Amino acid sequence: KPLILWFRRDLRLDDNPMLAAAAATGRPLIPVFIADRSVTGIGAAARWRMGEAVESFGKRLAGQGSRLILRRGSALPVLLELISQSGAGGVWWTRLYDPFARERDTDIKDHLKSQGLEARSFHGHTLAEPWDVATQTGGPYRVYTPFWKSLDAQGVAEAVPAPERLVAPSDWPGSEDLAGWRLGAAMNRGAPVLASHAVAGEAAARDRLDHFLAETVQSYRSDRDFPALKAVSGLSENLTYGEIGPRRIWHAAKGFSGEGATHFRKELAWRDFAHHLMFHTPHLLDSNWRDEWNGFAWQGDTASAERWRRGLTGEPFVDAGLREMFVTGTMHNRVRMIVASYLTKHLMTDWKIGLDWFAESLTDWDPASNAMGWQWVAGSGPDAAPYFRVFNPATQAEKFDKSATYRKTYIAELSAKPGKTALSYFDAVPRSWGLDPAKPYPDPLITLSKGRERALAAYESLRKG
Ligand code: FAD
Repeated sequence: KPLILWFRRDLRLDDNPMLAAAAATGRPLIPVFIADRSVTGIGAAARWRMGEAVESFGKRLAGQGSRLILRRGSALPVLLELISQSGAGGVWWTRLYDPFARERDTDIKDHLKSQGLEARSFHGHTLAEPWDVATQTGGPYRVYTPFWKSLDAQGVAEAVPAPERLVAPSDWPGSEDLAGWRLGAAMNRGAPVLASHAVAGEAAARDRLDHFLAETVQSYRSDRDFPALKAVSGLSENLTYGEIGPRRIWHAAKGFSGEGATHFRKELAWRDFAHHLMFHTPHLLDSNWRDEWNGFAWQGDTASAERWRRGLTGEPFVDAGLREMFVTGTMHNRVRMIVASYLTKHLMTDWKIGLDWFAESLTDWDPASNAMGWQWVAGSGPDAAPYFRVFNPATQAEKFDKSATYRKTYIAELSAKPGKTALSYFDAVPRSWGLDPAKPYPDPLITLSKGRERALAAYESLRKG
């Protein structure tokens, strides 16, 4: 009997244990992608980018004489319909760890098994299963460094190669048309600008890795904090859709000596740590991880927060980051920390407002890494930066963007002759924002020292209860 392979965020042939195991059975395989709430309900940029990933993976499967069947709707009824149309014996998939996927997948597994059908899930989304890295007493980690040491010491399973052959069924069930899903519709005018920055698909992701390891990884440790240098891999965009597997990256990096390659694996392990935290404490995603933060005097969604979203705070390093995200769909890690600190500290705005904007705007959006990042900066998370450590965007700029190259790349108003990328921001944003590169750059929303003092005073009163 054929097997249905339900692809979700594992849109690749290589380093895909589920696919490798399925191909090894020699049975006919029916790959399927379902646009359920986990696709239609995500932010505009991520939904658009998911469409690119699906399109590319469909072509890749076609190159192997297979297909990617597309269906829309709630996953269980869609799968049951496919089973009845194809006579498949069951469904296999790669495990995900967010609460929505876990509940959905458990229900599906129970239901299929109760019907006498196969339902099997595999590891593949992370370096290790969230429950396989454990403290000496068998519990989860709360702090990154011991987590990393434990993961590195226990080692990471080898990446499996792409299967040589995928057996096609004698009859293919019908597929919907990807264009009909209009996954990019909410992108408004932004999609063409984003498309010029996206690097989609398995082959492109692999090239990106190889190029990064050959050219850049040696200087990764010293250069990774400087946003104007092309010193980071850019692989988050591919990892989130599974266009490349984390174990492939890990083992490829292990083949390189030097502290750059080791540091790169350490950063990759942060992604696993985020999944570990999300799995063991799912409230990471939407509530203060530490309860005491519920009493903090967070500001709501004010006019200042809207200025922040639009990259109009008057603080150039902050605005450059927000505009970079709008134009490219990603933001440099150092700048993510700076814009998050500015919102949660200088503007004292609830981190969830920033989290939501990132979720709406990032093509590399990942629920676990995004929530961990925001709670880390805000101070409300496990292993968080202490609240009183307030990033000063001006001194950060002096240190990490001394020549203002990064700021000028994204802020047209700072140059007499702005470049293409800075100007493309004005093409990407909604027309209703009424932005115009000819308008002068805004004055700061708040002086940095005043914002810092206000935040520290509020923190002091939280501490005193
Ligand atoms: P590289 O420096 O090349 O690192 C390699 C890989 O390691 C990355 O692709 C990523 O998978 C992982 N990694 C590196 N740093 C981190 C980190 N701090 N946390 C988790 N994984 C990490 N990352 C996302 O993938 N999606 C998000 O939605 C996201 N939101 C964030 C929000 C905030 C407020 C902050 C501070 C960080 C966030 N990050 C997020 C983490 C980090 O900024 C990005 O993973 C990184 O910038 C991606 O660029 P890169 O692939 O070039 O990274």
